[in-house]
Amino acid sequence: MGPQLTKMEKTNYETVIIGSGPAGLTAAIYTVRATIDTLVIAGNQPGGQLTITTVVENFPGFPEAIGGPKLMMDMMQQVKNLGGEVVYDLVEKIERTEGRFKIWLKSQKTVEAKSIIIATGAGAKWLGLEKERDLIGKGISGCATCDGMLYKGKKVAIVGGGNTACEEAAYLAKICEKVDMIHRRDEFRAGPIEQRKVKENGKINIWWNTEIKEILDNGQRLTGIRVFNNKTGEEKTLEIDGLFIAIGRKPQTDFVAGLVELKGEGQVVTEKDERYPSMTSMEGIFAAGDCVDEKYRQAISAAGDGCKAAIDCQKWLEEKAIG
Ligand SMILES: Cc1cc2nc3c(=O)[nH]c(=O)nc-3n(C[C@H](O)[C@H](O)[C@H](O)COP(=O)(O)OP(=O)(O)OC[C@H]3O[C@@H](n4cnc5c(N)ncnc54)[C@H](O)[C@@H]3O)c2cc1C
Repeated sequence: MGPQLTKMEKTNYETVIIGSGPAGLTAAIYTVRATIDTLVIAGNQPGGQLTITTVVENFPGFPEAIGGPKLMMDMMQQVKNLGGEVVYDLVEKIERTEGRFKIWLKSQKTVEAKSIIIATGAGAKWLGLEKERDLIGKGISGCATCDGMLYKGKKVAIVGGGNTACEEAAYLAKICEKVDMIHRRDEFRAGPIEQRKVKENGKINIWWNTEIKEILDNGQRLTGIRVFNNKTGEEKTLEIDGLFIAIGRKPQTDFVAGLVELKGEGQVVTEKDERYPSMTSMEGIFAAGDCVDEKYRQAISAAGDGCKAAIDCQKWLEEKAIG
């Protein structure tokens, strides 16, 4: 995306921020302005989740709304304009070594830091069905806003019953010939506005109490799904060109399992020390955004968390320096 990422030359920082979504970049704006020597490791989705959406209408300061990629590109540029360093790489492992942290990157490089802010957000959850992973990009997608246009005028299905599933179903209905919505319960979890967008849409056919039994393909692409009603056991084959999985998101924290305390589906546990509420169970490691938050999961709340983590981190570094 947008601004050029810098080449990492140094290997030692006061703070390394892992993730470049609203939480990580906001944290960087604060640490850099506090003259903390900071490196942001952008991960494989520079700018984070908002780069896969179109318009953001609920981020304050943009009365005419703003494109998700544009908002994130501007945030990234703001970090760089303030003097922050951003590299495109992925953290694979962190180890505590003599009062510092050693961070292993996918590029085989290592970097050391006195403190870390984990801001790795959340990624799409999958159903775990056979062939599902193999057919991603060949008829299966985890993001209707990103891939919906590939199925213009075609028949698609979407799985899920939350806000994202309803929003994405309504979006697909604008583009596709027909949308089958598969939901394993007899009511949606989505809010009333989102539900109405689906229930009042003549192009969306809702399959209640229904789950996917099998993914069908022709050896190259998805061709359909075999579904069953979990109350009656009745089965049916739906011939579709695209299948969108919208069953939620999971924190991207596997790489810190065993280092910091995690809960639920992998949310980082914070609020262990009332002096530094965003600190994790490991002293010197802080966390912010969707990798912590299982409730709000919004760009503005992630940005707010990023700000708090940076201020906590700054305070911790200062108090450490005094001894
Ligand atoms: C389709 C869609 C539309 C949305 N629309 C809105 C909206 O309109 N308004 C709104 O407020 N919210 C919206 N959201 C939610 C919003 O995007 C998230 O709440 C927000 O992006 C969370 O920010 P974050 O910084 O915590 O994490 P993310 O944005 O998820 O960023 C995580 C970052 O961590 C990096 N990363 C992950 N693992 C590693 C690793 N091992 N090493 C290095 N880096 C790593 C990734 O590359 C990424 O840069 C939407 C989400 C989606 C999916």
